[in-house]
Amino acid sequence: MSFTRKARARAMQGGGTYEEIAPAIDSCLLCGACETACPEGIELAELNIHQRQELNRQRTTYPRWYPADSNGMIDSGRRPDEQTLLLAGGLLGSKQALCLSLLEQLGTAGKTALARDDGQDIAKIMEAGLPLSPERVERFVSSLRSARTLIVAEGLLHRPLRAWLPGTKILGPGEALLSDASLRLLLRPEDLYIIEGRGYHTDHRRLAGFYHRLRHETGCYTNLDLQRTAFSTGAASLQGRNNIAAAGCIENAKRILKGKKAGRVVVEDLADSEAFRLATDLPVIHIAQLRRGKLSYED
Ligand code: SF4
Repeated sequence: MSFTRKARARAMQGGGTYEEIAPAIDSCLLCGACETACPEGIELAELNIHQRQELNRQRTTYPRWYPADSNGMIDSGRRPDEQTLLLAGGLLGSKQALCLSLLEQLGTAGKTALARDDGQDIAKIMEAGLPLSPERVERFVSSLRSARTLIVAEGLLHRPLRAWLPGTKILGPGEALLSDASLRLLLRPEDLYIIEGRGYHTDHRRLAGFYHRLRHETGCYTNLDLQRTAFSTGAASLQGRNNIAAAGCIENAKRILKGKKAGRVVVEDLADSEAFRLATDLPVIHIAQLRRGKLSYED
């Protein structure tokens, strides 16, 4: 109980220090589910990062899963002219075949391209609550200004990108792909469709409606509960990337599977696929592997 979001708030109200609640702050996977569940509508996702920032001001030793390089200087490259850019992120960005498959399905007359700078280093620094370099943020944002739509795999970047680029449409890969009716037809009633939680919770009201229609249309299962909160494996978190078992991600995947007669798992976030592969013998595919006319299980 002392690790819950409510307990952390109570501890601070009672005079607790950030150091005293450090284990609870470090255990938070920043999935954003507590924000949508909060009856007072408090913006807990930002407060969770704020607590991590405050804790960093006081402590001298960091957990093993903290990013090694907090400067994150990556060349943002030239400004692309494409109207839609895919920001693939760390794990998806390392899988060229999956990125190409996504681009092929998203592409409208060659107007969708892979962003050369996906801001993954910025996401890691934000998640760890470490100080961000304004110059680095400016380079990242400048490289995206010419795009009208950004398809962003890293859900943690959705909220800041909406603030930094207010006129730009920010979508997750799942919404971007499944807005196409011919791709929705590839989902089956026995599919367990795993929504990427961090991006989903930052635009909860709108996306709850989108996924409600998806469930109604395809009959598939999802990782949403009755409050339309997405139960996350946490595999995309820094802790999950460091040690998927120790962060509880496999157990979370088993909890999501429980009671569902699923025949296949379809994940929006590639990080979730590893948690489900370790939790079940069912086939696990990424949405980029849902192909018109054929199903591809290869990477
Ligand atoms: S962000 Fe997720 S892991 Fe962190 S306190 Fe909220 S619900 Fe728990």
